[in-house]
Amino acid sequence: MTRLFRIGIAAAAILTLAALPASAALRVVTTTEDLAAIAREVGGDKVEVTALARGYQDPHFVEPKPSFILAVSRADLVIAVGRELEIGWLPTLLTSGRNAKVQPGSNGYLDASLNVKILEIPTGQITRAMGDVHPQGNPHYWLDPANGRLIAQAVRDRLSLLDAADKAFFAQRYDDFSSRLGVAEKRWDAMMAPYKGTKIVTYHRSWPNFMDRFGLVVMGYVEPKPGIPPSPSHTLELITDMKAQGVKLIVVEPYFDKKTPLAIASQVGGRVLELAPSVGGTKEAADYIKLFDYDVSALAAALKSVTGK
Ligand SMILES: [Zn+2]
Repeated sequence: MTRLFRIGIAAAAILTLAALPASAALRVVTTTEDLAAIAREVGGDKVEVTALARGYQDPHFVEPKPSFILAVSRADLVIAVGRELEIGWLPTLLTSGRNAKVQPGSNGYLDASLNVKILEIPTGQITRAMGDVHPQGNPHYWLDPANGRLIAQAVRDRLSLLDAADKAFFAQRYDDFSSRLGVAEKRWDAMMAPYKGTKIVTYHRSWPNFMDRFGLVVMGYVEPKPGIPPSPSHTLELITDMKAQGVKLIVVEPYFDKKTPLAIASQVGGRVLELAPSVGGTKEAADYIKLFDYDVSALAAALKSVTGK
């Protein structure tokens, strides 16, 4: 055997080895547990999914850990919420991960927000005085099951692009998820139907898609502006408005201090309800459909108690 021939065989062996992982699971890293849950629904055992932020953490402010960098460096696909939700922590992580495959603009990076319904896209000029306003609209869009379905479609299409051999598998998994979601949506709509048009207050602007979907009206926020902690003057104004309009329910995300919401609730004779804004936000919210099962039943029960309906 000539030396060149032997090198050729060795090279072929290496190529064969390199080709093998194509049939192994795609390594998917998602910024949130919601996206991880959807990626698992669609990807099944063809994907190995790692979520970075936990569902009980504020997704705007996540402390990057060394394990995050490792996960990004080994990923075949990174899925982000987008709309600047992760602007404070994801760009640095993508740079530190040094993985060319998953940089924005490449096939290994999916911005899940591109084909969904986005609310609160600001018009006109954005100034610092407006608080932490997202110029690309409200990034908490996964809290509408119709958007969950659209995210799953985008995940299906991207997984099929990266692993074309399993296209039919992903299509079947998506169809199954979509039909289970459809059955669940009927259940949630029925539970929320008695409360159409009811006004509530939320701590942060996490819920416009959710409340819109289920026909509730968010009349105010505990935060004076997005990302700005409660101030005495805003709190007094909110109490006055809530009393005037008979609003009695304050929805709070798990990562905010309950002190101000509880004080407001006692002033208006109402109550505070903690809902899970994400999968993993509470242990019952173990997957995407269970997240809504938990939130819709908790919200319906709280609305029943404050409205008597
Ligand atoms: Zn936000």
